Amino acid sequence: MSVSREGGCACGAVRYRLTSEPLFVHCCHCLNCQRQTGSAFVINVLIEADRVELLAGDPQPVEVPRDDGSTQTIYRCPSCQIAVYSQYARPEVRFLRAGTLDDPASVAPDVHIFTRSKLPWVALPESVAAFDVYYDAKELWPAASLERLQAFRA
Ligand SMILES: [Zn+2]
Ligand SMILES: [Zn+2]
Repeated sequence: MSVSREGGCACGAVRYRLTSEPLFVHCCHCLNCQRQTGSAFVINVLIEADRVELLAGDPQPVEVPRDDGSTQTIYRCPSCQIAVYSQYARPEVRFLRAGTLDDPASVAPDVHIFTRSKLPWVALPESVAAFDVYYDAKELWPAASLERLQAFRA
């Protein structure tokens, strides 16, 4: 089963469509994500770059410093500057910001990460895995997503 999801920036210049289900959905409570969003956490839809079909616009990369001294590439609408997705080490995977989906409720976190810096008033559901820092994809991702991971690693 595949659901077509669309989304975009605030001004409408950037529009995209996800052509398949996500690989996995992260809710990240790290301090970098808190600073970048000005909020308690970010919700990242992990999906192959070639499954994010751009319908309009051309998100521009901005290099953003992280606490560990590395940088993270955040792609923003060139007009309204809304962050649409990030790229970390692996260019084949987009970390798409779920809040830019037309229907953000159409995805939910599969895992909560970096809960060591979770804001104390955020209560997490017992039913979703949560980790102080990070986790092993091999243990948590569904088989179909691991197969997709293998496909672009090959
Ligand atoms: Zn825009
Ligand atoms: Zn984070």
